[in-house]
Amino acid sequence: MATDYYATLGVARDASAEDIKKAFRRLARESHPDANPNDPTAEARFREVAEAYEVLSDPERRRRYDRGDRVDIGDLFSNLGAFDDLLRSVFGDSGLFGTSRRHAPQRGRDVLVPVEVDLAEAAFGTSAAVDFRGSVHCRACSGRGAASGSQPEMCASCGGSGSVRVARRTMFGSMMTIVPCDRCGGSGELIVDPCPECGGHGAVQEDRSVTVEVPPGVSDGTRLRMSGQGEAGERGVPAGDLYVEVRVKPDERYERNGIDLHHVVRIGLAQAALGHEADVPLLEGGEERLEIPPGTQPGTVFRFAGKGTPRLGRRGRGDLLVHVDVVVPTDLGPEQEASLRSYAAATGEDVKAPRRSRRKAR
Ligand SMILES: [Zn+2]
Ligand SMILES: [Zn+2]
Repeated sequence: MATDYYATLGVARDASAEDIKKAFRRLARESHPDANPNDPTAEARFREVAEAYEVLSDPERRRRYDRGDRVDIGDLFSNLGAFDDLLRSVFGDSGLFGTSRRHAPQRGRDVLVPVEVDLAEAAFGTSAAVDFRGSVHCRACSGRGAASGSQPEMCASCGGSGSVRVARRTMFGSMMTIVPCDRCGGSGELIVDPCPECGGHGAVQEDRSVTVEVPPGVSDGTRLRMSGQGEAGERGVPAGDLYVEVRVKPDERYERNGIDLHHVVRIGLAQAALGHEADVPLLEGGEERLEIPPGTQPGTVFRFAGKGTPRLGRRGRGDLLVHVDVVVPTDLGPEQEASLRSYAAATGEDVKAPRRSRRKAR
């Protein structure tokens, strides 16, 4: 029974030529043996997909196939040139996986460095210097890698393209595949007379210091990207990016929760009962007076609107929430104990007898 080419490509029987091409592009990329080096079934799948496309992409063959006639396409894979042409007609000169220079480095490596800021700096923004060792383009050769007065030469093996097409033997015959040029490492150029400063790499290691603007509202772990400030690429390839990871030092005065700050005010029993005024430290500096009314319960929360931290990239600030903690005395002097006992007597609270009398009782 003949293969269902429509099912192989996953398209309807009335699919347009464009749909068929799209389906093939996707399936060929997915099943190409180069993309599945450890999957022995990839070649068979790739072959089925290519066969289906070879038939359905040709209007005459497709008509015959739809009528139920036998369609002989010969052995597609034994004719290297024809198969290569087919791939090229679908994917263009750039090949199956994008540009034929895909193996040449497109840019330098990204770099990640930490920067430590305090809570106020994280909230209101700051500029900080980050120091790290990284590569920069060699000034002696302007990153080209060739000694002054000399020029890199075009690689003759790949004609300067950085990649070569080679025939790969597979169980289905030969298949064309694109690999980086061995001789020039994919750059398309050969350095005949290397720059003595960088040894032909076009980049050198240096101690670097970069100033980063930390925007208001960052939190612990925020990564700031500085485009083009990462490692220089070899031989004039653009530099990668620098990522600065913000680490916010803990501030013992506050607990941060998103854009809100939490602060704890500890007061005594009498202050809770009779009222108090406390000075609450503000993140921007200075203090704000907090009125604690008589009869304030432990755990009461007062809110200072707009005194929290800004939201990253937005206007406005969160709130500062002040939690009241009533501290019960643990080490009473004789006078303090006497006054508390008379307070208990006045309110009728049943309290434990004094320790001294208990000792006597033993
Ligand atoms: Zn150099
Ligand atoms: Zn080459």
